[in-house]
Amino acid sequence: MNVAIIAAAGSGSRMASDRPKQFLQLAGIPIIFRTLEPFELCESIQEVIVVLPAEESAGFLALAGKFQIRKLSKVVPGGATRAESVKRGLLAVREATAEIVAVHDGVRPFVTAEEIDRTVGAAREQGAAILVAPATDTIKEVAEGVVARTLERSDLRHALTPQCFRYELLRRAYDRADLGDRTLTDDSALVERLGAKVVAVEGDVRNIKITTPRDLLMAEAMLKRDDLDF
Ligand code: C5P
Repeated sequence: MNVAIIAAAGSGSRMASDRPKQFLQLAGIPIIFRTLEPFELCESIQEVIVVLPAEESAGFLALAGKFQIRKLSKVVPGGATRAESVKRGLLAVREATAEIVAVHDGVRPFVTAEEIDRTVGAAREQGAAILVAPATDTIKEVAEGVVARTLERSDLRHALTPQCFRYELLRRAYDRADLGDRTLTDDSALVERLGAKVVAVEGDVRNIKITTPRDLLMAEAMLKRDDLDF
């Protein structure tokens, strides 16, 4: 059994709106339900656990029926940091049957079913795999306002989600983690610290994280002009 944990318990403070961004509408459908759709459609995931702000769960469950989220197995209240939220999701996974766990941001609705299947497939073979996209800007390392180093762009990738791991590997990584650490922004870093190999699966730059009002505008434009190569 492969399980997806959808981290959707953020407060959305950078969106400057009264609702967390995952519940804002994107072309008439709340972002979280757009995000859940490719997980419904993909072949590699059998169960979905959604981590939400505690006060959102009743409203979410009412809509989950309407949007026919058949794979939804549990709704879990989130924590103060993303890592705490993912850990809570992980504790809700049924250990006896869990093979691969795919952790995904609730605010990345543009992931495709095919990308999910490819990343889960790589994790089944190698233990850990994350979706990445090429870096388009040249990235500089800066120290005290001065460029210290230019990194080789062809070696750089943006870390996206899903990030997929064998259940026991991710559990071990999270059991050792300092969950209050706000610099902890992805799951892979924890697994890397254990010395495990993490495979990079090439994905599409369209799989953006909707964090700011500008991202929401970009997402609306992408939906309207699906033929454009954003
Ligand atoms: O923090 P960031 O903007 O990178 O959030 C990525 C994802 O993690 C979002 O979908 C957000 O809802 C989720 N998150 C969470 N619990 C938190 C903070 C963020 O599930 N405490």
